[in-house]
Amino acid sequence: MATVEETLADVERPAARDDIDEQMAEASLQAAYPAWTIWCLHGIWYATGPCHLIACGCRRTLHAPRGEGLRDLLAAQRSGGEETT
Ligand SMILES: [Zn+2]
Repeated sequence: MATVEETLADVERPAARDDIDEQMAEASLQAAYPAWTIWCLHGIWYATGPCHLIACGCRRTLHAPRGEGLRDLLAAQRSGGEETT
């Protein structure tokens, strides 16, 4: 019986922690990049914001499977817009 309880706890705890981490990461990313709209859907992270080309008025949507990946993409946009895809 103890084994079953441990198994359930192991399944539920990391999921809850990931959820909190994602909410915190989303809030901190949004604060760091106010020009971008950042959201997470079905585990994929998206950010829609201004094109890095000054003369270009289009809006781009970046996506990454993790919040950290999206942070890297946003950092690349800010630091000169090197294309990484
Ligand atoms: Zn553009």
